This record gives sequence, C-alpha cells and structure tokens, in this order.
Amino acid sequence: MKEKTRITVFCEHNQDRREPVKSVYPQGMHETIADAFRGHKEFDVAHVVTQDMPEHGLTAEVLERTDVLVWWSHLDNPIFDDAVADRVIKRVIEGGMGFLSLHSSIFSKPWQKILGIYYDAGAWGRFRTMPKGEKQRVWVSAPGHPITAGLGEYIDIPRDEMYGEPQLIPEPDRTVFISWWEGGEVGRSGCVFERGRGKLFQFTPGHEEFPIFYQEEVRLVLRNAARFLAPPPGVIIPDAQGHLDNRPQEDLSHRK
Ligand code: ZN
Repeated sequence: MKEKTRITVFCEHNQDRREPVKSVYPQGMHETIADAFRGHKEFDVAHVVTQDMPEHGLTAEVLERTDVLVWWSHLDNPIFDDAVADRVIKRVIEGGMGFLSLHSSIFSKPWQKILGIYYDAGAWGRFRTMPKGEKQRVWVSAPGHPITAGLGEYIDIPRDEMYGEPQLIPEPDRTVFISWWEGGEVGRSGCVFERGRGKLFQFTPGHEEFPIFYQEEVRLVLRNAARFLAPPPGVIIPDAQGHLDNRPQEDLSHRK
C-alpha cells in the first residue's frame, strides 16, 4: 500500500493574531490551510508549525519527516533565520522535499534563494492591495496537469490582492494557472519549478484578509499540488560524501 504523503504546514502566524485577519482565520491561517488536507486519507498532516517556534518549527527532524512543505508567510519574511532557510533549501535540493509556496511566500527567504530572486516586492513585479480586494479569475492553462485535475476551466476568487506581470521570476518549467484581474492585469498564478531532486509550486492566490483558503476549489489545488510535489518513492538520496549508491568509489590507482 502506498505510504501517506507527509505534509508540514508552516505559517508565520503574525497578522492572523489580530484584526482584520483574526476574524477571517480565527484558528490561525496554519490551521485552515492544514484543514485542506485533514480527512483525506492519502495525506498525513505531520506537522503544523509557526515562525515563533524554536527554529521556526522547522528542525532537521521535522524536515526529515516531511514530503511536502506548504508555506504561507508575509511580514516576517525578512526576519526568518538564514540557517533554517538553508536547511529547507537543502532538504528540497538533496532530499526531494516538495515546496508549495502560497501568495506572499514567494518573498520568503528559502523560496527567493532557491529560485535566485532578489528579496524585494518592488523588484519582483506588479501588485495592488485594496481593502475591498479585486476579483481574480484563475484560468487553467494546463488542463492535463495533475495540479489542475478535477477543476473546470477556471476558478473564480471573489476578492484577492492583485499580483500581476511582469513577475521577474525564472521561466517556470510549467505554468498551470494564469490569472485575470478585474483591473485588467494578468499574472502567472500557478508555476511549477524543479530544483535538484525537488519540485516546487508557486500558487499566488491567498491574501490574508480574504477567506480564500476555505474555498473548496483552492483546497483541491493544494491537495493536487501536494500529490504532485511529493518525492517519488525510492528517490535516491546521497550519503554524507555525496555517494549515490553507497558502493566504493572507483579505483583510480591505475592513474599515475
Ligand atoms: Zn497579500
């Protein structure tokens, strides 16, 4: 029988402690995002962690027991510990852990560093924050892709913060969603990247002031993405010296 996919949800848990976000996510955004996976037997919500925990909750042991890391962060991106960010990156590159980056998490340290993006929203692309939000139509641009399975032609999100082009990101390996905004902008909103052994997915909907992570189609995307991002069973991990098969190194003594 297939093993369950072990999910770790990380959130900074800052703005959801107070209004106006607290009344949208009274349990904290981390719990609402984790609820997208709970009750689905192929997933094990192994850890739900927040930035205020020691080592941000992302200890080596937690990462070792994580197949897919689901991440939401915003204001506290700059004060995230560099050593922990490097640990996350290493686990993606070397260990094949999947990384699902939600909304402003694309400005988080591990995400920016792994994709080679400079940390600064203004240098990244176009966004517009309005208290009332704007309608977003998330068009499926890859209808055969596992991440878009079970969706119609598009997802309508009634209110979100506008994230538009030009996004100064590396060309994705696959763009599975492109969003249209009522203000006229468009933006790549579902981007798949591969780095090392790991797969990464940028899903840009999810501004904290709107109940986007309760929306069933959004939750379906999270589950589809986690299924896709999980490392394949039997992925070969190098030992500490970088040997992939644990056999002795080639005998090079004949070389003089
Ligand atoms: Zn936002």
